[in-house]
Amino acid sequence: PDGLPALCAAELAHLDWRSDDTGESSPHSQAFDDVYFSRHDGRAETEHVFIAGNHLPERFAAWQASRPFVIAETGFGTGLNMLCAWAAFERHAQAESRLHLVSTECYPMGRDDLERALAAWPDLADKARVIIAQWPAPVSGVHRLILSSRVILDLHIGDSTERLALLDGQVDAWFLDGFAPSKNPEMWRPELFEQMAARSRPNATFATFTCAGIVKRGLKAAGFAWRKVPGFGRKREMLAGEISTPAQDARRNSTPWFHPPAPHSTQHIAVIGAGIAGCTAAEALARRGIAVTLIDAHGPGAEASGNEQGALYVKLAVDTNHQSRTYLSGLLYSYRWLSRLDPAHRLWQPSGVLQLATSEQETRRQIRFLEHHPLPADVVHAVDAEQASRLAGVSIDHGGLFYTLAGWVRPRLLCEKLASGPGIRQIRAKVTQLEHRDEGWLLTLDGEQQALTVDQVVVATAADSTRFAQLEGLPLQPVRGQVSRMPVAEMATPATVICAGGYLAPPLNGWLTFGATFTPNSSDRTVTAEDHRANLDELERTLPGYLKHLADNGLAITPDALEGRAAVRAASPDKSPYAGPVPMRDAWLEDYARLGKDATRIPNTAGQYYPGMWISAAHGSRGLASAPLCAELLASRICDEPLPLELPLADHLHPGRRIIRDLIRGKRGSGG
Ligand code: SAM
Repeated sequence: PDGLPALCAAELAHLDWRSDDTGESSPHSQAFDDVYFSRHDGRAETEHVFIAGNHLPERFAAWQASRPFVIAETGFGTGLNMLCAWAAFERHAQAESRLHLVSTECYPMGRDDLERALAAWPDLADKARVIIAQWPAPVSGVHRLILSSRVILDLHIGDSTERLALLDGQVDAWFLDGFAPSKNPEMWRPELFEQMAARSRPNATFATFTCAGIVKRGLKAAGFAWRKVPGFGRKREMLAGEISTPAQDARRNSTPWFHPPAPHSTQHIAVIGAGIAGCTAAEALARRGIAVTLIDAHGPGAEASGNEQGALYVKLAVDTNHQSRTYLSGLLYSYRWLSRLDPAHRLWQPSGVLQLATSEQETRRQIRFLEHHPLPADVVHAVDAEQASRLAGVSIDHGGLFYTLAGWVRPRLLCEKLASGPGIRQIRAKVTQLEHRDEGWLLTLDGEQQALTVDQVVVATAADSTRFAQLEGLPLQPVRGQVSRMPVAEMATPATVICAGGYLAPPLNGWLTFGATFTPNSSDRTVTAEDHRANLDELERTLPGYLKHLADNGLAITPDALEGRAAVRAASPDKSPYAGPVPMRDAWLEDYARLGKDATRIPNTAGQYYPGMWISAAHGSRGLASAPLCAELLASRICDEPLPLELPLADHLHPGRRIIRDLIRGKRGSGG
């Protein structure tokens, strides 16, 4: 009902490389029998049709808003248009302004084809390299690429109309590309123009190379005014125009509570909590030029994000539910984000993760999982015991799933690096109270010793978040977890992360880390021999004989020879994180009370929020896969940008979701 199409591996573009009149080869689509660009004058055509057609040089030069200028395109193809827009932005825009690119593509190119196609433009080579380095796996959905501190590209893989219907964001200028309507009538449907109209800012412009009747009619019916203007080269005419009054976004009529709060001043934002959730939020905000104060009583990575090593992986449900989609997007985003942040792999290793099927039941689950998730092999694929053993470099008795775009991270070092990044001021203090005043948020530090006033505040203090009066009643549960470590000298295997019930990471600096225990409703941070025993038992179940193998090689493996660390993570009742604005709980209970009687009678009242208050929490033991994407989600919402997730998935992470669910189920409390 929320329009999410089936999760799938996108079909890659099939290309011919054809010689043009200059004797050089250009990409040509087999499916559409049409060219992507002319090598001879493709650049000039893009500049004429899309850049000048939308008056971008002048608009970029005049752009002073705190939000980015947003361009959306149908048909990313080789990315030439997007690269030219980025280059024009750098040429014309003022230093502080930002650009947000959104492009849809149903047949993405393989990385090699993309690289070959973009090699045609040497002066765009630096920019092309940035896109190629982060080029996503061909999975349907939204893929955010950070091109620079000023420029973001969201690739929406799937059909243009379908993807625009899921876009949570508004557009200033449209590039209507896609092969010629005569060759690709499927794309140029009335619904495409309707979606554009509903996603447009007032006075959004468009430009397109074609003058076809179906395009003129579609644009007009959706509310765009078009003009014929001189086309490029041999094409006499093309279309350009604008929409003065965009269509209403009707999608919130059925979920008015999720209607986002109006944007606030973003000069100075406090992030409370310097674990992985807070540090990634601080980085995402600071990258956007916001002054960030990051506050933590014990400094970065002191609590549950303080382990030396942690697995970057997800465990996806058999069915593709919203949670699985969100975690998959999160994993793929974390991988790209880490690749950009730390290409030298000092803070992480993309070692891949083996998820072993150690029981009949798990084997059946994995088979069903692969049926439900037809994902590309370079994201996840099945391996037998022999392949698993070869990948890991240790003897493994079970087959399983291998996640290629996964691995392990050094969470404590990562938090420290992020916290000391540009634009972030760190304060070591405990925030004891949060109070909203006319001038912003007043933070009381260390019980009235100090105070700080900021425009907005992001709470990222895991299970402690409910200490703040505004978050009382948010269902959050503490979960104790202990990891165990043993010294293994020069040992180099396993070469991948191996997980089943728990996980085992490749040795790091002579230590082998494994774990972790999972004890809901315990906040005890004492390292216990009992939990070491549980970790050893789990390791024995995952890799039978491995401990004996270590013992045969003279390594002590008794619980008292182990080191460890215990910390407390937070979990929500549905085990998905909370990332979004903080609802005024009492107001929601009142405004939406009648849902308890009849869930189909939806009140026409937008959700009430604490102005400028946000949360990122409940990342459980998968924060490395969820926190970076949640940080982008928050920063994008705060800065009034398009979101890096489809609208229903952003709703899935919404901190108010349990209030509505409980009301509908007739429960008023903070339901479990
Ligand atoms: N803008 C591109 C560039 O700068 O290289 C060229 C675009 S190429 C002429 C058209 C692109 O639209 C192709 O990559 C094609 O796969 C894509 N396309 C065609 N139909 C589509 C649809 N319904 N939804 C999304 N993309 C589509």
